[in-house]
Amino acid sequence: MGESPVTANSSLLIIGSMAFDHLELPSGNFFDVVGGSATYAAMAASVFAPVRIVAVVGEDFSGEVLHDMRNRGIDTNGVERVPGKTFRWAGRYSKDLTSRETLDTQLNVFAEFRPRLPEAWRQTPLLLLGNIHPTLQTDVLDQLRSPKFVVADTMNFWIKGEPEALAAMLRRIDLLIINDEEARLLSGIHNIRKAARDIMARGPKRLVIKRGEHGALLFDEHGVFAAHGFPLEDEVDPTGAGDSFAGGFIGYLATMLEITPLALRRAMVHGTATASFCVEGVGTTKMATLTKAQVGARVAAIRELYEFGAHSM
Ligand code: AMP
Repeated sequence: MGESPVTANSSLLIIGSMAFDHLELPSGNFFDVVGGSATYAAMAASVFAPVRIVAVVGEDFSGEVLHDMRNRGIDTNGVERVPGKTFRWAGRYSKDLTSRETLDTQLNVFAEFRPRLPEAWRQTPLLLLGNIHPTLQTDVLDQLRSPKFVVADTMNFWIKGEPEALAAMLRRIDLLIINDEEARLLSGIHNIRKAARDIMARGPKRLVIKRGEHGALLFDEHGVFAAHGFPLEDEVDPTGAGDSFAGGFIGYLATMLEITPLALRRAMVHGTATASFCVEGVGTTKMATLTKAQVGARVAAIRELYEFGAHSM
């Protein structure tokens, strides 16, 4: 367990992977890059609100990273350090960065991990079940006392490998975040609107479908909302952008008194803005120092993308 004091007022708990990634990018190959769904999501969410993180790392994971996370308001008391190796993932990106192939996934210490939440954390109202084995996501959900809002993320690895555990998890959440390719894989339907309807019938009443550089769509009882991605000049590494979106999205919700349809729509734009920074550097380089002012400026820039008629051109 970490050394930080339990933050009494954290309203947000995140579980997911903490990892070492091997990245094959057009700009070169990068080894032992600190990554993981919980790492990216917690860094992103901490821009907006204090965060509690639940994960496991091996003896090879640097204490300095955990220390830096604590300095950003991330409570690491839920991070277990156990004998063995940290989770590892390897991916290769296409030259234009629009697609990637998973080369290797090694669960390592995650294979035996059973999360145990500190008692004081069981009342946390907001929960992000970041991308990890759906059984671990459900384990954490079981330990919380009536959370107010539960968001989950997953990926093709679990959709293909653990369909039953995933189905059980889906029945218990309020909102699912996945990308368009995963939505098609999960539903078996190509049309994105029909795929969304199919997935929402499996449990989550709300659904976010991420569309990479194009942003994300929210489906809820009010219809569909689109948040545009910010067109970047320098795209370096998309790894973790999805997790950073999820972290920014729920981190923003943690600052809201009520989770209304309007709050969800605003969270969509804040999530998109947060994720855009992730892509500008390798690994967590940009996320580790991201500030609220930077995100605010990008939200304003995204808002301008929709501005038509206001300027005389
Ligand atoms: P993203 O680019 O948002 O899909 O997230 C990439 C991050 O997810 C990387 O840092 C990986 O370490 C982590 N990751 C990849 N595959 C998995 C998996 N099957 N379970 C949990 N985390 C994963």
